[in-house]
Amino acid sequence: MSNEDQEIVLNLANPPRCARCSGETLFRAEFPHSWKNAAGQEVSGIRSADLCPACDRGEPSADALLALFAVDGQLGTGNMTVFTDLLGAWVDVVRNRVVDMERLDAEHEAWRRGELDDTSADPDGDAVR
Ligand SMILES: [Zn+2]
Repeated sequence: MSNEDQEIVLNLANPPRCARCSGETLFRAEFPHSWKNAAGQEVSGIRSADLCPACDRGEPSADALLALFAVDGQLGTGNMTVFTDLLGAWVDVVRNRVVDMERLDAEHEAWRRGELDDTSADPDGDAVR
């Protein structure tokens, strides 16, 4: 993750409501993100993720962020370093989650177009991977 642009943009003042439960979120983070599409081409863009106290609870890096907000209430110079570390860890988790979903979508697309080699995707032919 060192040679990739890791700049994360935070919306703390007016984050959108959670897309999953429509509750209030703590913030929205936007981060650069790249992945390979079904054709193996590198695609890059900006992804965003909201930290929801209800939906994101249970994931360790999200819990750490939620705990920081619960204890400190707001961000200041005193906890900014800790926050930045926790945020980086959480964004890594979110980024991987997004990539997995995109990979799934890309594979599904390829499969619909008949581009997946069936014998390599399912070597024994019983449709169980
Ligand atoms: Zn939620």
